[in-house]
Amino acid sequence: NSAFQHLQQAPDDPILGVTIAYNKDQSPVKLNLGVGAYRTEEGKPYVLRVVREAEERLISDRSRNKEYLPITGIPTFNKLSAKLILGEDSPAIRERRVCTAQCLSGTGSLRVGAEFLAKHYSQKTIYIPTPTWGNHTKVFSLGGLQVKNYRYYDPRTRGLDFEGMLQDLRSAPSGVVVLLHACAHNPTGVDPTPGQWEGIRQVIRSKNMLPFFDSAYQGFASGSLDVDAHAVRLFVTDGGECLVAQSFAKNMGLYGERVGALSLVCSSESVATRADSQLKLVIRPMYSNPPIHGASIVATVLGDRNLYQEWTVELKAMADRIIRMRHLLYEALRARGTPGNWEHIIKQIGMFTFTGLSKEQVNFMTREYHVYMTSDGRISMAGLSSKTVPHLADAIHAAVT
Ligand code: PLP
Repeated sequence: NSAFQHLQQAPDDPILGVTIAYNKDQSPVKLNLGVGAYRTEEGKPYVLRVVREAEERLISDRSRNKEYLPITGIPTFNKLSAKLILGEDSPAIRERRVCTAQCLSGTGSLRVGAEFLAKHYSQKTIYIPTPTWGNHTKVFSLGGLQVKNYRYYDPRTRGLDFEGMLQDLRSAPSGVVVLLHACAHNPTGVDPTPGQWEGIRQVIRSKNMLPFFDSAYQGFASGSLDVDAHAVRLFVTDGGECLVAQSFAKNMGLYGERVGALSLVCSSESVATRADSQLKLVIRPMYSNPPIHGASIVATVLGDRNLYQEWTVELKAMADRIIRMRHLLYEALRARGTPGNWEHIIKQIGMFTFTGLSKEQVNFMTREYHVYMTSDGRISMAGLSSKTVPHLADAIHAAVT
């Protein structure tokens, strides 16, 4: 008899479970468009050249050791990460009112941010968009916040429900936390325009709300690190406070290394110093301190002019390949005369296309065409290649006709 006899089998994670099902499929034409990881034209995982180069430098540096890092990680990594998202000439950095903690990728940064807010912020409610990345609700509610939603995506236009979003924010209580995807909204690929961001900023600031940016795709959406940081910088330039969770999973291809950062942009240096001390109290009993390797890679790349330059080139190449896949898929559907308007495939940005396919259509495509994707109809464009686009187009065509 087991102490755990009562346990029920838990369902697979809705996103990671797609890969489990894919791995079981024996078909030679099977296609995994579920998980958000970049693949080359050959369908292979990609380790960036600058990452390899940084690793070689790290390994050959015999002065390095395996001692524990400080609770908030590598100080230079933290400084460089904050500079990357907030900008070279950020007033907040200049005024030393930012504190940053190296955390376990984007997810860990969000979770530490949630626990910090649950402990220290007056409002315990966070508003997140509908829909959003599947893990957000769980991360924030288990982190101690109450989760509510604001309207974001309009299935009719397959675009932003801007009015609905503003209405929901206007009618939310003053001071609540608002989660915003910094760019390349997941799963919809729909971002506000710069003008719309300004409207969102005005509502959030006028209601004294606290913006919490999730930046998982900087550089991956447009190919430019600066363009993709626009929204965050807009909110920082007005002098107000915010939180930013950064992930280096996608833009440096460091998925399994779990490298990320949580930054608190505070109103003054003195608040930032105290916030930093409190962040340590949140992190210490959670995992004590973060791992060395991945953050050392990032610090090496960000801190070296040549490597940084090469990184921007590799990053743009990844972003461009994804954008090319959008055009190929769009053209392939047009060539087949597939019913419906598929322009959203080329309008949406980032790693994913929110196809608008129903759960039944997704099931059909998996069953008949061995195409794997999340049941909300989200496909990872990064998992496509020019060789596999025709197969996907055939599957979509068959599903909708
Ligand atoms: N936030 C969003 C919107 C994401 O799409 C992801 C990854 O898919 C993450 C955060 C966190 O990723 P990671 O923890 O691997 O950095």
